[in-house]
Amino acid sequence: MVIAVFPGSFDPPTFGHLNIIERSTAIFNKILVVIAVNKEKKYLFSAQERYDLLTNLVSPWKNVSVHICDSLIVEFAQTHNAQVLLRGIRNITDFAYEFDLSMMNKSLNHSIETVFMPTEPQYFVLKSSAIKELASFGGNVSEMVPSEVERALKTKFPIG
Ligand code: ADP
Repeated sequence: MVIAVFPGSFDPPTFGHLNIIERSTAIFNKILVVIAVNKEKKYLFSAQERYDLLTNLVSPWKNVSVHICDSLIVEFAQTHNAQVLLRGIRNITDFAYEFDLSMMNKSLNHSIETVFMPTEPQYFVLKSSAIKELASFGGNVSEMVPSEVERALKTKFPIG
């Protein structure tokens, strides 16, 4: 049984995140999507709002569950018997950041492996921060996020 943890901010979840989750369901027995809460960071959506959105979005996949974590992700993985940290890679900038992070996590827990999954071409421009900015100007994000996320963004940025 191989259990993978897919951590991130998911502020908000995008089609890029869902693509990684969907593809990983065919590889791992279980995927734990983890909303990693960093007290230093400011989020648009509360952890509970992101939990509710993600729980609804992953409901088609029976081997995917959603969690909130405010501790070290390797500790979360160990507690949940996960052997893999799954990370999506959009470009070389993501890779540089993720590679360093994987070295750090390896030094914290040698038995947990980071696995990188490259994005698919149609998703490589999708970035939560850019989507929030676009939504704040009333831009059309319907190609980037599921309709429930689009609605949630509209409640945060009520324009027009
Ligand atoms: P973002 O950079 O969009 O704020 P998160 O912190 O929510 O991302 O990312 C969680 C994980 O999902 C990370 O591994 C990130 O690289 C990955 N990811 C985010 N967007 C995409 C995408 N469009 N394609 C593939 N992976 C992605």
